[in-house]
Amino acid sequence: MAKAKQMECISKISCFLILLLVTFGVARVATKPNIILLFADDLGYGDLSVYGHPTSSTPNLDKMASQGLLFTQFYSASPLCSPSRAALLTGRYQTRSGVYPAVFASGSVGGLPLNETTIAEGLKDEGYTTSIVGKWHLGVGKDNEYLPTRQGFDSYLGIPYSQDMCPCVHKVCFYPNVPCIDKACENGNVPCPLFQNENIVQQPADFLELMQNYLKGAESFIKTSADKKTPFFLYLAFQHMHAPQFAGKMFTNSSIRGQFGDALNEMDWAVGQIFQYIEEAGVKDNTFVFFTADNGPSLAREIYGGNAGPLRCGKYSTWEGGHREPAIAWWPGKIKPGRTMEVAATVDVFPTLMNIVGGKIPANVTMDGVDMAPILFNDGKSNRDFFIFYPGDPNKTLGIFAIRWKEYKAHYYSHGGLCTTTHPDVVCRSNYTLHAYDPPLLYNLHNDPGEIYELNVKEYSDVMKQIETLKKSFEADMVWGESQMGRGQSPELEPCARPGCTPFPSCCTTSSFLQQDMSLALI
Ligand code: MG
Repeated sequence: MAKAKQMECISKISCFLILLLVTFGVARVATKPNIILLFADDLGYGDLSVYGHPTSSTPNLDKMASQGLLFTQFYSASPLCSPSRAALLTGRYQTRSGVYPAVFASGSVGGLPLNETTIAEGLKDEGYTTSIVGKWHLGVGKDNEYLPTRQGFDSYLGIPYSQDMCPCVHKVCFYPNVPCIDKACENGNVPCPLFQNENIVQQPADFLELMQNYLKGAESFIKTSADKKTPFFLYLAFQHMHAPQFAGKMFTNSSIRGQFGDALNEMDWAVGQIFQYIEEAGVKDNTFVFFTADNGPSLAREIYGGNAGPLRCGKYSTWEGGHREPAIAWWPGKIKPGRTMEVAATVDVFPTLMNIVGGKIPANVTMDGVDMAPILFNDGKSNRDFFIFYPGDPNKTLGIFAIRWKEYKAHYYSHGGLCTTTHPDVVCRSNYTLHAYDPPLLYNLHNDPGEIYELNVKEYSDVMKQIETLKKSFEADMVWGESQMGRGQSPELEPCARPGCTPFPSCCTTSSFLQQDMSLALI
């Protein structure tokens, strides 16, 4: 009898313990915020209406900014697509991961090395469901070895590179009925493939329906994850605003800014849709949303490209216009609405997210990012007091092109960017050859964000001393990864829905799959 009582007691205690564990375990998981990272392409600092563009209309991003925290000094780690994505997702400079020089081509052998830990992998370890919708641009490789599904993402819907790496469709670029100009397309490549996980479901991708299809994927992912009550991470990497621009029926001729404005309207609308989805899924109050972009505007596109506002030059250059981006952090009840002038960068996103979810920063690797929590939650000062600038084509011999320390920025080298040869500012022009500066060119970015008025370095010897020390110590700590672009490219590696077909590459089409459901089932 006594033994039976004892057993009953033990069983009650274990039931209680199990109940306690389940209750608090579930509660712990449920309180982890969902994370949405919105990443625009080739968007200039001055392109959004909330950043002052006089003829852009971006009401959804403006609303996000009015409810969130707007950054005025936020940097992308590279002025170019692939390397900036590598840095965002790993928290490390692209020089460490080997994602340099330039970008991955449609048939590149290399990709973001699989031993790099991505944000998606970090969040998966914390119980997150993860998905990417949109432009990957970190390699496809042989047998899809570098697709996002091999880098911590449970599901993928998107084109794995930029749309200017694809042929013109019916002699027009993607914007309705605009003939291809300015080498905006690559007619020798396979048509743009739309992947769903690791399968090509549409080739050529239909750009006039693309944003809607991306949203179908995003919506189904948000809904499924919310229904399952698992915290989720959605990385929505827009093809917008990269050239050639495109816009669906709803946004054709919708902007007084022309094609770029129409495409921007479509992207802004998509941002609004994402907010609607989290509201409908009942997770709006527990979702952290962060918006920024990979690099500055392509000045080669002239009136069809973006705008860096008051900043100098654009894409591919280490002047402010290449690196400084719009950035908005949004989390109702957690992040106070406002505007911060603190310096932060894309490499900071990874450590910040890990701090928010209680995750671990990868051990045994050098992280370049610092936690942005003091800026986001405490109205405080940035943990970052310097920022390193590498151009779109960094190399070991030249190393660092520029350093920002506090409000000062010193340029050691510069070369032209993706720009015409007639731009009024000669240093921005594509034919502006490599220039070394000894002594370095020094500017005060607080007084002179446009980097116009050189300071006399002799009068700033203490500043230069500090910058030199930082440069030496950063370069001593820089271990350059093997260049992934140096591994070359091959037409056989271009993603083709009908491998081995002829005539290659135009035979790579999937017209029979066009009706495929674009929703993102979790794999
Ligand atoms: Mg880009």
